[in-house]
Amino acid sequence: MKNRIVLLGPPASGKGTQAALLAATFGLPAASTGAMLREEKSRGSAIGTEAERWTTQGGLVPDELALRIVWQWIDGRTRFIFDGFPRTLGQAQAFDDGLQERGLTLDVVYLLELSDETVLNRICTRLTCPGCGSVFNESFHFVTKGSPCPSCGVELTRRKDDTREALDRRLSEYRKETLPVTEHYEARGLLRRIDASPARAVLFQALYDDLCANNPEEALS
Ligand SMILES: [Zn+2]
Repeated sequence: MKNRIVLLGPPASGKGTQAALLAATFGLPAASTGAMLREEKSRGSAIGTEAERWTTQGGLVPDELALRIVWQWIDGRTRFIFDGFPRTLGQAQAFDDGLQERGLTLDVVYLLELSDETVLNRICTRLTCPGCGSVFNESFHFVTKGSPCPSCGVELTRRKDDTREALDRRLSEYRKETLPVTEHYEARGLLRRIDASPARAVLFQALYDDLCANNPEEALS
């Protein structure tokens, strides 16, 4: 069983959802730097306050700060799933070094691949519930902006940054920052490319099968 896993992919590739599903299925602790930052901020910790200075200016936290948060979270853990981290080559190299110091190695890095067209289509038809945080898609959930949330009844809204312009920026940033990360892991023989265009359950099965590939006794019958 692979115990130290990284999921990478463009926006709307489903990496957060898949990380949560894998975490629940295999009992692996899962984290993203975004979630860790939100937790630090809500606790009002020194790291959280420092991170807030960067994110309130609309920026991303520097690699050094991201790594500090990651090590604080890993502290003592030997199994994990990260989603969307490492985001830059600098983070990936520092992550490798830090894992080595702790006597750990990454087992696999999954790159969830999705065409720009599909990313755009998924995001521009995406609606979120301000009440319970559920995410829906106009194309296959039979909802539109203002529909009541099927889970809790609150009116569905479109996220402010789910626009064509904002997305073009995020995609070009993703390409610039994350493609060198995937090349880095490819050179180390850790990268597996997975087609992220199928439905959530199909994508999960592909990841599940790959994770269990060398351990047939662990696979579901
Ligand atoms: Zn809701």
